[in-house]
Amino acid sequence: MAGQNSVEDFDVVVVGLGPAGATLAHLLGLQGVRTLVLDREAQAYHLPRAVHFDDEIMRVFQWIGIADELEPKLRINIGMRFVDPDGAILLDWPRPQERSALGWHPSYRVHQPDLEELLRETLQARDTVTVRARCEAFLVEEAGDHVALRYEDMAAGKVVRVRARYVVGCDGARSLVRRFIETGMEDYGFHERWLVVDVLLKGDKPELGDHSIQYCNPARPATYVRGPLNRRRWEITVLPGEDSRKIATEPEVWKLLAKWLSPDEADLERAAVYTFHSLIARDWRRGRLIVAGDAAHQTPPFMGQGMCAGIRDAANIGWKLAEVIHGRADDALLDTYQSERHPNAREFITTAVRLGRLINAADSEGALRAAMPAADGTASMKSIYPPLGPGLGTGNHAGRMFGQPAMADGRRMDDVVGHRFVVVAEAELAHDVRLPDEVALVTTRETPDAAGQLAAFGVRAVLLRPDRYVFGTADTGAELSALVGRLTSKVLKQQTPEMA
Ligand SMILES: Cc1cc2nc3c(=O)[nH]c(=O)nc-3n(C[C@H](O)[C@H](O)[C@H](O)COP(=O)(O)OP(=O)(O)OC[C@H]3O[C@@H](n4cnc5c(N)ncnc54)[C@H](O)[C@@H]3O)c2cc1C
Repeated sequence: MAGQNSVEDFDVVVVGLGPAGATLAHLLGLQGVRTLVLDREAQAYHLPRAVHFDDEIMRVFQWIGIADELEPKLRINIGMRFVDPDGAILLDWPRPQERSALGWHPSYRVHQPDLEELLRETLQARDTVTVRARCEAFLVEEAGDHVALRYEDMAAGKVVRVRARYVVGCDGARSLVRRFIETGMEDYGFHERWLVVDVLLKGDKPELGDHSIQYCNPARPATYVRGPLNRRRWEITVLPGEDSRKIATEPEVWKLLAKWLSPDEADLERAAVYTFHSLIARDWRRGRLIVAGDAAHQTPPFMGQGMCAGIRDAANIGWKLAEVIHGRADDALLDTYQSERHPNAREFITTAVRLGRLINAADSEGALRAAMPAADGTASMKSIYPPLGPGLGTGNHAGRMFGQPAMADGRRMDDVVGHRFVVVAEAELAHDVRLPDEVALVTTRETPDAAGQLAAFGVRAVLLRPDRYVFGTADTGAELSALVGRLTSKVLKQQTPEMA
């Protein structure tokens, strides 16, 4: 048995190196947190899963420094169409081709293994992050001021003990850490089997089109997704009574794809039946144990937001853990993780469940019109940007994501100020307010672009958190001083800034 002295000590152990765990490890590494990441597999999961993410997620990738390298591997999504069994368009949802206020495109197509490989590769350069593959955690026990964790190092054939101040389970839908939290799951009622088929086209096939298509066919609803390069995806409902194994065999798959594609036009990359669930863990944290990503919530894929939710979790808990570990905030700050993230994740999940039901409805046209009425009597769909739930912020706009104005020299704001707390304010208002060193200031002088974004919120100044959600807003210098005072009393405790 390993002696006490030989037990390695970390600030945080992240269990699971999927997209949520890898993003969190990057964020912790960026902030100098001593982090161990364990994954039971030798490599990233090689089969496609996520095909979509949005501008908020790309902004997180910008934060961890991979956006520019990732961008050439992505495709900008032009939109989604809902069609009836005869191919008539029931609803057209074009996605903007311009960059949004967040500084990136609102909808990207991605091949998840490309993203995961890049996340892993770039993690090697983080000095304070240790990654151990083929290491499976099996015991996680809170013990006073630390967590004791045991894992099996499968390459070395031994059991290893480590300790950490916090353990974050980014260990997927069957999370071990969630079980040690001993929480149940909230069930949002959607559990359906869908056949997921990924193909690689051998040549051009322009008639498939560049839109994603929801086939609202009550006999067998299906989704088509235009992936990057020659990748195409179909997700097809498995009907009650159908055998999950049989329907995923090549002959059956080609029968189902026959109206779009023949075997000489594409190679099957994989066909597998997934049961899509809609679940949220009741407790995302117990003491020093925390869950994020699929370990905390699972959604049907109709909004393309499962992985996105996990990246948002990482962005939320990442900076909070760093503040607590560096002694600038109390452990109570971590309580705001679930209170903020749960309502946001729930909004995406319940919307995906509603969308799934519309695609499955016997009269999809009527159902779409009733659910998403447009002024002209048809149906229309909009992006949703649900705010965070109650937590750290204050005032009406707390928990809304603020845009990323371009600086006068064209650079993006986050690249210039980094991911600290930042005040974005009208130049005249910020003039008399003294900020602590930890809070950056960007005024409409350095970024005239910010004026429009402040106006969209109807305020003269915003105080943003490192994850770029609004902490609070102000219209006068006195209000801004009070806001910063509130921040220092809640988070930046080690500092006693002199306020004007
Ligand atoms: C068909 C399909 C389509 C999808 N489409 C989209 C989409 O378009 N957009 C989107 O945002 N999301 C989509 N998703 C969801 C997305 O793929 C997942 O939400 C995402 O992969 C979850 O990431 P994660 O890091 O939380 O977990 P995972 O990717 O599951 O990673 C968990 C990791 O933990 C490791 N692990 C588990 N237990 C242990 C242990 N005890 N010790 C050590 N390691 C362990 C595993 O090996 C794994 O590497 C889709 C999913 C599917 C199946």
